[in-house]
Amino acid sequence: MAYQIRKAAVIGSGVMGSGIAAHLANIGIPVLLLDIVPREVTEAEQAKGLTLEDRAVRNRIATASIQKLLKQKPAPLTAKKNLDLITPGNLEDDLEKLADVDWVVEVIVENLDVKKSMYEKIDAVRKPGTIVSSNTSGISIDAMAEGRSEDFSKHFLGTHFFNPPRYLKLLEVIPAASTAPEVVEFMTAFGEDVLGKGVVIAKDTPNFIANRIGTYGLLVTLREMQNRGYSIGEVDSVTGPLIGRPKSATFRTLDVVGLDTFMHVAKNVYDKTEGEEQKVFEAPEFMKKMVENGWIGAKSGQGFFLKK
Ligand code: NAD
Repeated sequence: MAYQIRKAAVIGSGVMGSGIAAHLANIGIPVLLLDIVPREVTEAEQAKGLTLEDRAVRNRIATASIQKLLKQKPAPLTAKKNLDLITPGNLEDDLEKLADVDWVVEVIVENLDVKKSMYEKIDAVRKPGTIVSSNTSGISIDAMAEGRSEDFSKHFLGTHFFNPPRYLKLLEVIPAASTAPEVVEFMTAFGEDVLGKGVVIAKDTPNFIANRIGTYGLLVTLREMQNRGYSIGEVDSVTGPLIGRPKSATFRTLDVVGLDTFMHVAKNVYDKTEGEEQKVFEAPEFMKKMVENGWIGAKSGQGFFLKK
């Protein structure tokens, strides 16, 4: 079967979903961007006489993410008009529109059960041959494919983008045991030739390659900081500008990634390892408290740094 991506859908419009949608729009691929339906109306919506039944409210999460693309730095879009290629929607009213796309990329919260229940819904509406991929940071692709139809399983794999998707070159492609070789071949070529990425094929091991190393490095840095009494500013300097890396180093990187997401990603490996290796992947208590307080990084306005 010859594959072609004429239209795509991105499920989840958070930090990564909105960035991936922008990257596709920059290339000229129309994207449907879907997110969950909010359960409450905001005061501003109420003031406009809107209720939970209104489409504007039901599409609010994806719509707000699209608007944010204009304000983010570094800019996710190459031109403002690219926004026209991104259509916002919600996962209740617009799920059937997935029958009309060639590639669905899932970019929702890093949780196996939540992702599996999303694939069940996608499996029910996608047309045969539609490629479905996950942007998971490290959950088993095999575990996510389990229980799906044969055609879904053949067309399912991991496509792991890095943050921010417009700028970071790496794309990990992670086949499941069930993924058809021609699908892996197609996504690798598409990733390199169309998305402009450097593709690395990774095995389906916890956190794959880059995040296995990256999470380890960050957690060891956090532990050293605590044990040796370094400050956040000191660590960010010596792991950033002072050694020639851009300003986003340890803590700024964690703020950009999202502390909640980082903790889920660390747990992916923690749950699958034991002994000394496992101990490294336990997130520090202070980070757990920050997440409990809602200080989850740039997306909430407060992380290690306040968002300017
Ligand atoms: P995020 O928290 O910014 O966004 C998650 C989105 O999922 C939100 O828009 C939310 O409304 C939606 N969502 C929540 N519950 C849902 C549900 N039950 N059903 C459907 N949608 C739901 O997260 P993110 O940082 O964009 O991460 C998304 C995925 O990308 C995760 O798998 C994460 O591990 C991976 N990832 C993140 C980064 C990063 O730097 N943040 C990098 C690479 C990969």
